[in-house]
Amino acid sequence: MSEPFEHKTVDLKNLNPQDLRQFLSGIGKEKFRTTQILRWIYTRGVEDFNEMTDLAKSFREELFTRATISSFVPEAEEVSTDGTRKFLFRLSDGNSVETVLIPMDGDRNTLCISTQVGCAMQCSFCFTGTFGLQRNLETAEIVNQVCAVRKKYPVNNIVLMGMGEPLHNLENVIKALEILYAEAGFAYGTRKVTLSTSGLVPEMLELGRRIKVNLAVSLNATTDAVRDELMPVNRRYPLSQLMEACRRYPLAPHQRITFEYILIQGVNDSLEDAKRLVKLLHGIKAKVNLIPFNEHSGSDFKTPNEESIRAFQVYLLDRQIVAVRRAGKGQDISAACGQLKGKLENKL
Ligand code: SF4
Repeated sequence: MSEPFEHKTVDLKNLNPQDLRQFLSGIGKEKFRTTQILRWIYTRGVEDFNEMTDLAKSFREELFTRATISSFVPEAEEVSTDGTRKFLFRLSDGNSVETVLIPMDGDRNTLCISTQVGCAMQCSFCFTGTFGLQRNLETAEIVNQVCAVRKKYPVNNIVLMGMGEPLHNLENVIKALEILYAEAGFAYGTRKVTLSTSGLVPEMLELGRRIKVNLAVSLNATTDAVRDELMPVNRRYPLSQLMEACRRYPLAPHQRITFEYILIQGVNDSLEDAKRLVKLLHGIKAKVNLIPFNEHSGSDFKTPNEESIRAFQVYLLDRQIVAVRRAGKGQDISAACGQLKGKLENKL
C-alpha cells in the first residue's frame, strides 16, 4: 500500500529558490523560511526534517507529510593515477549517472556533472552518444551529484560537461543552476559554473537570456562537412549559425567563451584547420581548449602525434588566441568528456 501522502510529496531538491518560496507560502509559511531551509539542505547537508532544529515541531511534521529530500550515495568510486575521481550514482529507476572530480591546484577541485542519462546528440567521437538518450535528469538528480561529492571533497568549480547535452534538458538545468547560485545554499558565483553544449543554437540564445553561466562550445571542426560527420547537430545548426549565436551570447567584460576542440588525427588536426579556426573565432572573445582524442575501444579515431598537436596550438597562440592544451586527466579511468558512462557500469 502506498504512503498516505505519497501523491502530494515534493522533492525539495527539485525546487529552485523561487519554487521553494511558493511551496512554503502555499502552506502558510513566511518568506524567511526559504532561506532557513535552503541553508539546512545545501549548506549543512541535512536530509532529515527532524534535524532542522530551528523549525517548530509542527512545521517539521508538516514538511514530513508534504515533502522529501532526496540524496545520492555513490555506488562506486574510482581514482585515477592523476587524482581524478569518478563516481557512479544509481538512480531510483535503476539507471545510473557518472560524475567526475578533477583536481586543480592545491586542494581545489572541479566537478564535472551529468545532465541526462545517455545523450541524443550522437557525436561520433563520444562513447556516451552510442547509448542514445534514455531520459533527462531531474533537477534534484543534477544537484544531488554536487551534494554527494561535497560531503567528502571540496568542489570549487562546476562544469556541466558530463553525460548528456545540458541544453536538451534546459528547464531542469536552469533550475539546477539557480539552486547552485542560491545565496543561502551553495552560493556558487556564476563565474564558477560552466555549461558545455554541442551547439543547440536556439537554446544557447535562450540560456543567455535567462541566466548567467560560462559557456563552452564543443566545436571540434572548422568546416561543415567535417562537423556534420563528427556532430550531427551541425546539420541542423551549421557553423555560421553557431558562431553567430556565440557572438550574441552575453558576456561580462573579462569573460570568454571556451571552445572545446578535440584533436583527431587526420580529421581536424591540420594547419589548414588551425587557419580556418582563427577565421571562425574572429570577433568572438574566445579561449580554445585543445583536447587530444582519448582513444577508446568503441572508436577508430586516433590521437594525433605530439608534433601536430604542438603545431596546431602554436599557430593559434601566434595569432593571439588563448589556446590551452588540456591534460586529458583521468584517461586511465575513461573520464574525458563524453566517455564517462560504461566503464564503471560494466564492472558492477
Ligand atoms: S559529446 Fe556530449 S553532446 Fe555529443 S554525444 Fe557525447 S555527451 Fe552528447
